[in-house]
Amino acid sequence: MSIQSEQSAVTVLGLGPMGRALAGAFLDAGLRTTIWNRTPGRDRALVGRGARSAPSAEEAVAASGLIVVCVVNYDASDAILRRTAVTDALKGRTVVNLTADTPHRARDTADWAAGHGIRYLDGAIMTPTPTIGTSEAVFIHSGPQSVYQEHRPVLEALGGTHTHLGQEIGRAAAYDIALLDIFWTAMAGYVHALAVARAEGVTARELAPFAQGIGAILPPIFEEAAKDVESGTFSGEGNPLTSAVSSMAHIIHTSEAHGIDSGVMRAAEGMARRAIGLGHGADGFSRVAEMLGRN
Ligand code: NDP
Repeated sequence: MSIQSEQSAVTVLGLGPMGRALAGAFLDAGLRTTIWNRTPGRDRALVGRGARSAPSAEEAVAASGLIVVCVVNYDASDAILRRTAVTDALKGRTVVNLTADTPHRARDTADWAAGHGIRYLDGAIMTPTPTIGTSEAVFIHSGPQSVYQEHRPVLEALGGTHTHLGQEIGRAAAYDIALLDIFWTAMAGYVHALAVARAEGVTARELAPFAQGIGAILPPIFEEAAKDVESGTFSGEGNPLTSAVSSMAHIIHTSEAHGIDSGVMRAAEGMARRAIGLGHGADGFSRVAEMLGRN
């Protein structure tokens, strides 16, 4: 089959929870979907829904013009893509790597792909598996605009919003890293809060609606902080660092009085104290972003 006639076909390499969700959405959209996974047996439900299971990665690659890769990290995607038989099969085809890793790894993979005649887009998925195929899914992409435009109709079968962030291949991973930084530090704060609340006799269920209230006040605060960082003015009028650091100290004291590790909060408090020490006590917490960026 020529690569041209494979344009309505897609191959998914990697059948973890996310790879299975992606393949399922392609099938639901009526695309001819070929799947492969390192460990056999993860393909059964998808085969039942009409997917073609390839016996090897190179045969999976040969079935489609567009290859979507979604595995744990780039060590794993390298282990799949950089085997000679697979690399040879990829020549002239497009790889969209939706595996999460660092911008550096995305750039390195793009260089490798260019050296082997493989068209390459990098991407990241910003929402969990149940959103895939629905309007809730969020995908970000980077790499050559023309390649993105060509494959956009098939990628849109995954549902949700797709944003091309630019030609520089590392951009999607850069956004992914920054956004996951927010997610994991927020989650670290939340699980710590649940532990401290529990030690104080407040159950997780009791706290949850109020915790959601804290989540709800964040969007305008994020917007203001972004403006501060862009403009270089870090007004602490509403909540100066000197006040914020006192609030953080209360959390540390309460946590440690219960013998609960307060490392997450100590890290935040340490950054705020450093900024105060540098003479920024009257500024808001957004000043820390500027301070951290100094070399
Ligand atoms: P995992 O991150 O656990 O990835 C599992 C997949 O990686 C399996 O297909 C596994 O194959 C494969 N794999 C691991 N090591 C290797 C290797 N050395 N060689 C070949 N294949 C390997 O699960 P997910 O599917 O959930 O995630 C895939 C990607 O999607 C990750 O980068 C993740 O960060 C991202 N993502 C996931 C989300 C989610 O909600 N799950 C949300 C947003 C992004 P095998 O079965 O053989 O072990």
